[in-house]
Amino acid sequence: MLIDLHTHSSVSDGTESPADLLAAARAAGLDVVALTDHDTTGGWAEAERSRPAGLTVVPGMELSCRWFPSGAPPISVHLLAYLFDPDHPALAAERARLRTERLDRGERIVAALAAAGYPVVWEEIVERSGGGVVGRPHVARALVEAGVVESVDAAFSDLLHHRSPYYVAKADTDVLDGIALVRAAGGVPVFAHGLATRRGRVVGDEAIATMVAAGLLGLEVDHPDHTPEERAHLRGLAADLGLLVTGSSDYHGTNKTTPIAACTTDPAGWEAVQAAATGAAPYRD
Ligand code: AMP
Ligand code: FE
Ligand code: FE
Ligand code: ZN
Repeated sequence: MLIDLHTHSSVSDGTESPADLLAAARAAGLDVVALTDHDTTGGWAEAERSRPAGLTVVPGMELSCRWFPSGAPPISVHLLAYLFDPDHPALAAERARLRTERLDRGERIVAALAAAGYPVVWEEIVERSGGGVVGRPHVARALVEAGVVESVDAAFSDLLHHRSPYYVAKADTDVLDGIALVRAAGGVPVFAHGLATRRGRVVGDEAIATMVAAGLLGLEVDHPDHTPEERAHLRGLAADLGLLVTGSSDYHGTNKTTPIAACTTDPAGWEAVQAAATGAAPYRD
């Protein structure tokens, strides 16, 4: 059984439509794949319609959140959410708020770049997103197409990283509220790439314990951005705290170099996700 529980389509910041993403998943030999676009369930219907025979599809999402340490600025954390009720009003409202927040801050990032002379136009970036969830990868693409940088990766390391003068933070959901919302909607919250130090500051063990008290059910352990040491630490923490463990590629099509199924989830982790979910069912034969 090959299981990948974290992928993005062009409905957020991946480059393939949900239908093409599922075809790629099948071609890579996956038996189970989760669609986890940022802050939206907008790809779920197409994923259900276009699911290749034999592939189980897990409707999910990656919710943009923040942890608030005492006496320090907030830390960006990503919360995977599986099999929740897409019509749960409070969670739907929070997703909508986050998408608006992304538009406001994207426009500010692009305005700062344009003011410094970079040839990027906000309206074009929004149009090219196809009405999807706009994020820094869309700005990165525009910078590549304008010939400013060679690749999306270079756009991040040169201009879009979180310490860049052009960076603008988003008012993301308090992760403790996000966890409670996902649980209220019958979903399964899993902390995504929790120790990926290459992405920026990460939370400590006591923060993870507080998240567990708020209802967190799992940790994404095997992720391309985690070192072997980070994986070992998270695996030990999951065992101590009684959490389910997942592994995933965080595939973004050609916006990242990671192939689909680069990391995978053990069947036990997938069983635990299904056992805890009450908000939606997987799409399957
Ligand atoms: P945002 O959600 O707008 O803050 O942008 C964060 C997104 O940018 C992540 O979900 C990744 O998809 C992407 N990202 C972050 N770092 C990189 C990188 N070095 N190369 C390519 N994509 C990246
Ligand atoms: Fe992303
Ligand atoms: Fe993420
Ligand atoms: Zn992701």
